[in-house]
Amino acid sequence: MAHIAIIGAGMAGLSALQYLAEQGHEVTVFDKSRGSGGRMASKKVDDASWDMGAQFIRAHSAAFTAQLQQWQQYGWVDEWNITPWTADANGLHPSPDNVQRYVGMPRMTGLSRSLLEPAAAFVASTRIISASREASAREWSLSSDDGKTFGPFDGLLINTPPQQAIPLLSAAPQLAAQCEEVDMLPCWTLLLTLPEAMSSAADAVFVKQGPLSWIARNNSKPGRDKKEAWVIQASHEWSRQQVDAPREQVQQELLSAFFAALQQPQQQPDTLWLHRWLYAIPANSLTLGALSDISQHLVVCGDWCHSPSLEGAWLSGQQAARTLLTTLPNMAEEPL
Ligand SMILES: Cc1cc2nc3c(=O)[nH]c(=O)nc-3n(C[C@H](O)[C@H](O)[C@H](O)COP(=O)(O)OP(=O)(O)OC[C@H]3O[C@@H](n4cnc5c(N)ncnc54)[C@H](O)[C@@H]3O)c2cc1C
Repeated sequence: MAHIAIIGAGMAGLSALQYLAEQGHEVTVFDKSRGSGGRMASKKVDDASWDMGAQFIRAHSAAFTAQLQQWQQYGWVDEWNITPWTADANGLHPSPDNVQRYVGMPRMTGLSRSLLEPAAAFVASTRIISASREASAREWSLSSDDGKTFGPFDGLLINTPPQQAIPLLSAAPQLAAQCEEVDMLPCWTLLLTLPEAMSSAADAVFVKQGPLSWIARNNSKPGRDKKEAWVIQASHEWSRQQVDAPREQVQQELLSAFFAALQQPQQQPDTLWLHRWLYAIPANSLTLGALSDISQHLVVCGDWCHSPSLEGAWLSGQQAARTLLTTLPNMAEEPL
């Protein structure tokens, strides 16, 4: 049994955790946030809650299709059966498609919590700032920004956005250089609740003009609180242009665009929460699946190593875990 550290409890890290734990290894997971899930975060303010990052899960590959079916049997995900709408130059209109959409239950982080269960330990609210491997010891040790050290670990798996992986890759500058190639796009996200339910029949809207790209009625998803709660996402282009704009201004523009896209009169929300995802989605994924430095028992994964979705992150985590395991059986035979 090997002791393995995973930095980052996003979908890719949790996918790797599942695989490594199934093979009998002891895995410690670190995250700078209080909980797991990364960009499939959920947000709760008073009695309102929203899926703040990833909105739904869909599968293209046979492997992820089978995984989703298994998670559905466990009750970790359920189908979100909606007819999407489109808001464009022709107005607001239904755009039915054949996509099967799933959501985590009872929120997106419900899924990440279930996936985290096999971890030997989850070290939350802990930002790892360096990872070092003494050549003589052949083991990894980690340091956090509050002065703590962790280890030793036989193997290290990094699952952070590329910009946040670079400082952790001083032992593998060739991997840090590959991280530099990836451009991550921002996304301004507005969450709100309304005192009165809107009459619009549209629960999910792909917006093709103006500042927005997506609108969803969070309470139309299975298992959610009943309160009328909306998620409003700006387009990546607009978010990049407005990345450093004053928050008040961003909030006002998104709010106006939301009511305009749904063709509804403005009303005063009773809860508002604005979030800026600085590293929302890779503009250019590396398509390698995962990065690795086999001699150092080091792998790096994330959607940006594969493709920009939860499925891409999951597949990347699977590949990273498999690659890491191929390096571990030979450890004892390595020359000092
Ligand atoms: C607004 C938005 C909407 C989206 N919508 C969808 C959608 O509908 N469907 C879909 O499939 N995908 C969607 N995505 C994309 C999807 O969320 C991502 O592809 C996926 O969640 C990425 O997972 P990951 O494991 O690669 O990375 P992340 O989820 O980013 O996980 C990385 C983790 O590393 C942690 N971390 C970073 N640095 C450190 C450090 N130094 N020390 C400790 N921990 C650290 C972070 O806190 C985070 O938890 C969306 C993304 C966003 C932002």
